[in-house]
Amino acid sequence: MTLQEIINMDKEYYMNVYGDRNPVCFQYGKGMNLWDSENKKYYDFLGGIAVNALGHCHPKLTNALKAQLDQLIHTSNLYYIESQAKLAKALVQNSCADKVFFCNSGAEANEGAIKLARIHFKKKGLEDKFEIITLKNSFHGRTLATVAATGQEKYQKSYKPLTPGFKHVVINDFNALQAAITPSTCAIMLEPVQGESGVNPIDVEYAQKVRKLCDEKDILLILDEVQTGMGRTGKLFAYMHFGIEPDIFTLAKGLGGGIPIGAVCAKKDIAASFEPGDHGTTFGGNPFACTAGLAVINTLLEDGLVENAANMGNYFKSKLEDLKSRYSNIKEVRGKGLMVGMEFTEEIANDIYKKLFEKGFLVGCVGTKILRFLPPLIVTKDDIDKLIIALDELL
Ligand code: PLP
Repeated sequence: MTLQEIINMDKEYYMNVYGDRNPVCFQYGKGMNLWDSENKKYYDFLGGIAVNALGHCHPKLTNALKAQLDQLIHTSNLYYIESQAKLAKALVQNSCADKVFFCNSGAEANEGAIKLARIHFKKKGLEDKFEIITLKNSFHGRTLATVAATGQEKYQKSYKPLTPGFKHVVINDFNALQAAITPSTCAIMLEPVQGESGVNPIDVEYAQKVRKLCDEKDILLILDEVQTGMGRTGKLFAYMHFGIEPDIFTLAKGLGGGIPIGAVCAKKDIAASFEPGDHGTTFGGNPFACTAGLAVINTLLEDGLVENAANMGNYFKSKLEDLKSRYSNIKEVRGKGLMVGMEFTEEIANDIYKKLFEKGFLVGCVGTKILRFLPPLIVTKDDIDKLIIALDELL
């Protein structure tokens, strides 16, 4: 099929939630690169929106998946699953969590975390401790509860009445957070670095104060690591930058390297609040998805990709800072590891985004002034240099 035929078919049959997409349909990928139907090569600095942690078609992932496809795809959670047990063990052994539950997406992982926080206090007899405080401009997903958790009116306005029990406060304003707490507060849910709203990290000091406050007030700290997890920020999990541990954290995106899987990870006493029948899923944690997760975490650890994310993140930011010193329309470069944002003083982000696409570079655009970059964790200095040259020419 030609690209135009595919576009026409999409317009006729697919619900129009994505509007006019970038006019391309990728045919194949390898590492940092994608190729379109005209065999034009692209450098992928968006990584499927922080999903392709190992890049495209990494042999360790594809070989594991091919073998699993021939062996078993799905059985349901009525039976034990070897790769599920192994992936849960790998996540527990490499994090502060004691127990894991698998689902299929980031929103579902956050739903699971919200349910776990609520049931935890219900089972202690605290019926009215259900409220969850999140941040303004946060993004936690598209289901009804996670839309209510998301601190952005644009995602909420058409779906009212919203799921009750959510409050939003300004990022890094500890006093505002403290003031929002009531006896009903059961959890505070934070993204370590807000991704979708333009790469806004929470401060280390803020994270530490929030942890202390949670301990004092018997409130659970949930970190939404759907985007920041799996090495993205230069540590396997972003909470490791803060010197604190969350009670619950959620994963998705990079966890499956492109195969849909999410996870709710929790401390033992909190995880124990979920008893048989309290939560569950048909697909979540199936043999295929967990094989993907295992291949991803093993490759990240064996091949030093978390360190690469830290090193390449620093290199990338230093190169963007260099551009900033030469172009006055760059306002700020920010982020952690390979979660990088660049904000302009003027509304030029969309234009640069489109021109980068024409030059064969895929990046993200937030609003009119921010570009965001989420390359695979295998990115090299050479790849970054190529993007910087393209940006330099456009600026
Ligand atoms: N949480 C965060 C921090 C995210 O960035 C996203 C997606 O962008 C989600 C949750 C929702 O994940 P999903 O689209 O897999 O439901």
